[in-house]
Amino acid sequence: MAQRTLRDPEALIGAGLAPESARAEIDAVNARYAIAVTPEMAAQIDASDPHDPIAAQFIPDPRELRTLPEELADPIGDEAHSPVPRIVHRYPDRALLKVVQVCPVYCRFCFRRESVGPQHGGALPRAELDDAIAYLRDHPEIWEVILTGGDPMILSPARMRHVMERLAEIDHIRIIRLHTRVPVVTPAHVDEALIAALKSAGKAVYVALHANHPREFTPNARAAICAITVSEPCPMSVAPTRTTSVPSAVSSTSASAVSGSPLPRPTFL
Ligand code: SF4
Repeated sequence: MAQRTLRDPEALIGAGLAPESARAEIDAVNARYAIAVTPEMAAQIDASDPHDPIAAQFIPDPRELRTLPEELADPIGDEAHSPVPRIVHRYPDRALLKVVQVCPVYCRFCFRRESVGPQHGGALPRAELDDAIAYLRDHPEIWEVILTGGDPMILSPARMRHVMERLAEIDHIRIIRLHTRVPVVTPAHVDEALIAALKSAGKAVYVALHANHPREFTPNARAAICAITVSEPCPMSVAPTRTTSVPSAVSSTSASAVSGSPLPRPTFL
């Protein structure tokens, strides 16, 4: 198993996940979109299968560089609903808070791929968090805040706790929801400190786990999911990853794809 996250063509070729002949194509994709394949996901790829469903999600494909005239850089219209940086307020009673612009993996089909990656900055600057919190405080109709990005669960426990404590200041926020791939793609990141930070706002916390194939539910991933849902109960749902086009080799899955302990059924989402 690879020991580190694979982040460039050299690493992918060295790990046997891409042929040397694809170097120029992967270089071209890498110049525009971020690459990251965690050890947990790299170990799930069958490099001998040209239609491997895990590789289809994470290994760069030159078709990513083909842009049709009707395609948009912001296909879901986040910018039109962004009153202050990091906030997307599309529906009256809920708002997105983009706490980070990076992810542990980069999905080749992400509909926010133009705005995620290390080139777009790291964690939320304090001034932007202050402005976002002020906006949320000034809108009492918002009762649910959805942490997104990027992948919000990639935050360190200390940063997660800080965001949660800032949200705890606002009484009318009742629910905090996180959309994440972390428990399946880098389950080691889910530790006691992170889970405690999730609960530190004293609000109801819901986790929407993005996954696309049963093979993603490794023993480590199942342990991370159980830690979130059982030891410090946060309701969790499983949904296909945000995408404009799901690779044909990938099928969506559901909580029932996880054998072992059944996941609690969420009451929202
Ligand atoms: S789908 Fe989620 S984890 Fe994947 S690149 Fe997009 S924001 Fe990151």
